Order: sequence, then structure tokens, then C-alpha cells
Amino acid sequence: MKYATKLLHNGNEIDKHTGALSIPIYQTSTFKQDDVDNPPLYDYSRSGNPTRTALENTMAILEGGTSAYAFSSGMAAMSAVLSLLDTGDHVIAAQDIYGGTYRALTRHFSKYNIQVSFVDTTDTNKIEDAIKPNTKMLILETPSNPLLKITDLKACAELAKKHNIITVVDNTFMSPYLQRPLELGIDIVVHSATKFIGGHSDVLGGIVVVKDKDLAKQIYFVQNTLGAVLNPHDCWLLLRGIKTLKVRLDAEQQGAIYLAQWLKKQDFVKSVYYPGLPEHPGHDLHLKQAYGPGAVLSFEVKDINTAKKITARVKLFFTAVSLGGVESILSYPAKMSHASVPWKERQKLGITDELLRISVGLEDPEDLSMDILNAVI
Ligand code: PLP
Repeated sequence: MKYATKLLHNGNEIDKHTGALSIPIYQTSTFKQDDVDNPPLYDYSRSGNPTRTALENTMAILEGGTSAYAFSSGMAAMSAVLSLLDTGDHVIAAQDIYGGTYRALTRHFSKYNIQVSFVDTTDTNKIEDAIKPNTKMLILETPSNPLLKITDLKACAELAKKHNIITVVDNTFMSPYLQRPLELGIDIVVHSATKFIGGHSDVLGGIVVVKDKDLAKQIYFVQNTLGAVLNPHDCWLLLRGIKTLKVRLDAEQQGAIYLAQWLKKQDFVKSVYYPGLPEHPGHDLHLKQAYGPGAVLSFEVKDINTAKKITARVKLFFTAVSLGGVESILSYPAKMSHASVPWKERQKLGITDELLRISVGLEDPEDLSMDILNAVI
């Protein structure tokens, strides 16, 4: 079955009790039990809820996993994964990992004596050099944020397997439509479903997908124990978002390709970071491991005033944090996602004061390019 069909026909699309084409929102905290000696499938909504099950089963199929777990946000999903670690464990994480994951590792899980090394994961040798006897987890993001750097997922999975290290990929930027890390040997996929999966900037959610039965049991234990589950209404919103994932991303990606090529030709632009451009250093690798370059790109303008002018004057782009919605979003990493990273550190990472990131929505890309041009002149 082709992926477009799978998004709509995966065995979880119909309510088994009524035949409803939209899975009902089972807005209940608890379930009546007829026989306490034989507990029903659902007994309490933290432990399981039918709307959540439909979403979790759908996501498991779409990522090529065996089970998925839905959380109240992407960070709740990532925190559940980090909760698999024990005191004294060491983690290797991508240098330009999402800021929230960086904060969770350095300011929360560090309290449990979990150590972390941040590494340029685009170079697999650097990952190998960072491995210690107590390294238990490798956390990756490709393309990374905001410079869209590409990491070789298959090579990382092979290296980690040799050292008994669990591999985790934050697949938020791609969605399972464009990249399926489990198929490349990765152990755990995490999503901020707030982004492309929801797709309409109206819901916060997180998903963890695994293939291995033992890892599945451990994630379910954390989900049920710590309790950061996704509520039934938001599960329904994500189920609805999934139905249009392909058409949205196809159109948004076309817009991103148009804008990347247009931006390259503008005098006020110094560089464009987008894996869809042939000159992007990760272009070939990305297209080997993913099904498209996606709808997010970054560009560096000539000076800070131009960057500020664009953030203040664009009318069709919303200047905001987040991405993956039907409306185009422009963000300024130096002042938003990476504001807490010291200036010197940001320069080293290439996240300069002139860097802007855009998530392309469903507007006409020509209108979007004119919006940026009008903001500059
Ligand atoms: N991972 C990535 C790549 C993100 O961009 C974000 C949020 O921006 C998150 C994780 C965290 O997700 P949430 O905001 O849903 O908690």
C-alpha cells in the first residue's frame, strides 16, 4: 500500500463500535467494570483511552514501529524517553539538539547524575570518540535546528548497536511521511506532534514510537507512571491532522523549494540552509535516508538590521516560535529558540544574529517571497 493510502487506511480509521468515520472523542476518565476478576481493556484513561489507542496505533504503523505512545507535548515524550536512563548513565546528544531537550538534559536529568556530551553528529567518528563505558543513549535530530545539518542515521544505528547504545531520533522536522528512522535501524522515534502531525498550530502533543517489545514495555510503564498522557480531544485533533499530512507537506515542501531558490538570488541574503539545495553539504545523504527535504529552511541575511526589519515587517509570515502549521512561520533563533545560549557559543554553532528560520505553510510561495522582499525594502 502506498503511503498516501496508508495515512487514511491503516486499520485505525473507523470506530469499531459504531462505524463512525471519525474516531469518537472518548471524553471519560474512567470505565465501568462488570467483573472485577476480569478487568476490561480500558479501566482508567491515564492507563489507556480508545481515542488515544487509535492515534497510537496509527503512529506506530506510519513510523514502521510496533507500538507508539502519545504524550501531552513533545517535551513530555522526550522526557519519557530520557526516563529510561539510570543514575550514572552517559548520553551523547547532537550539538544542535532542540533547546528544550538541551535544557532537560543539562538542568533536569543532570540532577540524577546523568552525564551528557554534545557532539557534532554529522561526523560519525566524533560520536565514536565520545563513547564511554557508561554511554547508554545517543540522541539525534536530522535535519537539525536551525542549520538543517544532516546526520547519517544508518551509520549511527550500526555504531550504537556495536556498543549496546539506545538510539533516539527526534523526527519532528520530517514527520513519518518524509523520514522513517526505525526502518534505518534506529530504536526510538520521538515527535513534537505539535508541528507537522497536528499541522494547524492548534494542539500540543508528543509521540514516542518503538519497534522492540521490551522498549515498548518500558515506555508504557513511564507513560502510565509519570502520567503526562495526551487527552482524548487532542488525540482526535492529531488523528485529523494525520489524514492531510501528505497533501500539506507536499505543498509546503514545494513552497520551501521555491523560497530556497528565490532567497539564494537575493542581494540581502548571505546564505541559505536547506537540504533540498544541491550545494547543501548534507543534500545527498539526506535524500538517501529521507523522502524529501521538508518545509523548514533557514537563511542568513547581510546584517542584523535586515534580520530585525524582516521579523518586524512581514505580514503573511507570522513571526513566532514553532513550525509545521498551515500558516507560514518566521522565527529568529537568536532571540527565540536559542536565546538562552550565550552569544559566543551561538557564533560557534553558526546561529548568528543574522539567521532567520522559516516554516513554509500553504500560502502561495510567490506571495511569501514578495512578503519578505517588501519587508526588506
Ligand atoms: N523537538 C523539536 C525538534 C521541536 O522543534 C520542539 C518544539 O519546538 C520539541 C521537540 C518540543 O515539542 P513541544 O513544544 O511539543 O513540547
